[in-house]
Amino acid sequence: MKKNLKKIAIVAMVAVAIAACKKNQETSTPEPQETVKNADKVLQHIKNLGFPESSIVDNGNEYIVEEDIIFPKNMEITTNGAGPKTEQYYTGSIVNSTNKLNIRVFVDPSMTSMSSEINNAIAQWNGVPGSTLRLNIVTSAPYDILIKDENLGSGVCGQGQFPSGGSAGALIKINKSYIAGNSFAQRARTICHEFGHCISFRHTNWAAQGESTATNVPGVTGTDALSLMNGGQCGSGATVLSQKDKDATAVLY
Ligand SMILES: [Zn+2]
Repeated sequence: MKKNLKKIAIVAMVAVAIAACKKNQETSTPEPQETVKNADKVLQHIKNLGFPESSIVDNGNEYIVEEDIIFPKNMEITTNGAGPKTEQYYTGSIVNSTNKLNIRVFVDPSMTSMSSEINNAIAQWNGVPGSTLRLNIVTSAPYDILIKDENLGSGVCGQGQFPSGGSAGALIKINKSYIAGNSFAQRARTICHEFGHCISFRHTNWAAQGESTATNVPGVTGTDALSLMNGGQCGSGATVLSQKDKDATAVLY
């Protein structure tokens, strides 16, 4: 919490600094307003995905939905109604056919101590039969997904972003100290689960979790106790992708 407040304070200070710079110039285009406008668009986008207002938390530079999904306020919103309507349960917006072949993952120095867990998670997604989606670690920019440590408080293992504009969700936050006491398999599960959000998967158990209605992956429907994409199972959930998780991945990718 403190961290977030600090972040907000920094953002506010930067905004003031920008505004201060502008004051001495002739042009009075209020840049901050652009940011606000995009945040409104993002908020509308979240609602369009079917998330009720009550599930959306304003967290400074981002909105957090259902505890572990991040929507940056500066994310690019593209309206694309022509996508495939398939899902186990997904957002309806997937990584496009070019980007899915090489989704570049950059491991922040704060997460290198869990490189083995990250590699395990990546191997699971890359090993799905019938899917050409590939996550690859890169050691420098450019990259598509940044994975970093962040204190998310008690009860939240990690957070991930959904895809936008045909690109994978750009950020995964792992509550490293919180999951440090879990088994290797459970730590890898958390990371694998957040990668799942980055490639569009919703929680398979969204209904039981009281979450907003998710889109079905065509042909892969219903509940699945073995799904690694079940939510609310930090430290106790499935540690390998279930058959239905794999089927859904093959359908989408
Ligand atoms: Zn989740």
